[in-house]
Amino acid sequence: MLIIGGGNAGVSLAGRLLRYHVKDVAVIEPRSRHLYQPLFSHIAGGTADAFEAVRLQSAVMPKGAVWIQDKATDVSTGTRTVLLESGSAVTYEHLVVCPGIQNDWTSIPGLKQAMEGPHGASNYEYELAPKAWKLFKDLTRGTVVFTQPPGPASCDGAAQKPMYLACDHWRRQGVLQDIKVVLAVSTPTIFGMDLIDEELNRKIAEYGIEVRYSTELAAVDPEGRTVELTNTVTGTSETLGYDVLHAVPPQSAPEWLKSTELPAAGSRGGFVEVDPVILRHPRFPSIWSLGDAASTLNSKSGAALRMQTKVLAKNLKAVLRGRKPTTTYNQYSACPFVVSRNTVVFSEFNDAYAPMPTIPGWDNLARERRLTYIAERILLPRVYWNLILRGRA
Ligand SMILES: Cc1cc2nc3c(=O)[nH]c(=O)nc-3n(C[C@H](O)[C@H](O)[C@H](O)COP(=O)(O)OP(=O)(O)OC[C@H]3O[C@@H](n4cnc5c(N)ncnc54)[C@H](O)[C@@H]3O)c2cc1C
Repeated sequence: MLIIGGGNAGVSLAGRLLRYHVKDVAVIEPRSRHLYQPLFSHIAGGTADAFEAVRLQSAVMPKGAVWIQDKATDVSTGTRTVLLESGSAVTYEHLVVCPGIQNDWTSIPGLKQAMEGPHGASNYEYELAPKAWKLFKDLTRGTVVFTQPPGPASCDGAAQKPMYLACDHWRRQGVLQDIKVVLAVSTPTIFGMDLIDEELNRKIAEYGIEVRYSTELAAVDPEGRTVELTNTVTGTSETLGYDVLHAVPPQSAPEWLKSTELPAAGSRGGFVEVDPVILRHPRFPSIWSLGDAASTLNSKSGAALRMQTKVLAKNLKAVLRGRKPTTTYNQYSACPFVVSRNTVVFSEFNDAYAPMPTIPGWDNLARERRLTYIAERILLPRVYWNLILRGRA
């Protein structure tokens, strides 16, 4: 059993497969450190330290799994082989492809340079998140522009979290009224679910945030410190000066993956083609995929892949024992919107953005609450390191 990618999906799947007594589990993962991405938003917003989001990869790799510290560069479905950057190759009986998503910083003119300059930051890169908090913390007046790209993206709503955290900080410092906050979102509403939109719009009004709907970042001039925003409905453009730019990049499948046989012909983003319910490749039955790299229909998130891990592990176990894969993924996803330094609005939804509350019929977690902040900020990281990565949650 070979897994490409030892991130959230790969490690938790390896842990679960070993618990199911699947033999010969190997994970290809080039990095020496494992990152817990949901904490990046807190690092950018000043409610977590950077070290909290990192562990050694060797410490999170499940006991019994073989770690191949290398990078996959191609998959040969004919010979059932994964080619590695080092020049060697690994054969597989079954292959799970989960190398995550790629941040396309160069797809918008000037964006990469702006991030490298003194006024740009992002919670979508571990190195740029502490820089965001440094910029927010010291700001007492000026204009801050936040951007959320069109999907597919990893946990789309995470683009907004540092904004709410920063606004709450500025409000506590008594400077919020001197800071113009502009958010550009590509969607016509703030999220897309009535109840969540209602909660987020209330916070947006409270903080005095100016939202540009159906709007995308078209270009950045890092020298002149301006962004060009384009409204995708009217086609009009606006040039806006900024003191701080917090940007989230457009995203797509990792480059090497796009050029394999695994995505569907002409697919958007180049993600691995899978049956979105069974999580098996429709053309190559020995290949499976989950997490951010899979072309499932749900909004990509750790919450979604936690469900997917259970489904994929059960289906794989069934196939290895000569049975049919019958466990189905119900398209659940979730996004905890951190809307202040001690509250969260917790959205749970399916691929059509219909509510999927954990407790059916009880949508109270979708209201702004302290309880969900404690769950998201304090409990969940512990559950992640100690249970999810071990395939136990
Ligand atoms: C800022 C931010 C905030 C988020 N907040 C939340 C949240 O609050 N709640 C939530 O549920 N989700 C959240 N998410 C989403 C969640 O983190 C992802 O959905 C999840 O990490 C995806 O897991 P994955 O294993 O598919 O990808 P990753 O965790 O990114 O892991 C992919 C792994 O594959 C490895 N890899 C890459 N290329 C290769 C290769 N060629 N060969 C071998 N290995 C390779 C990488 O090194 C990496 O370790 C957030 C994401 C971000 C970026």
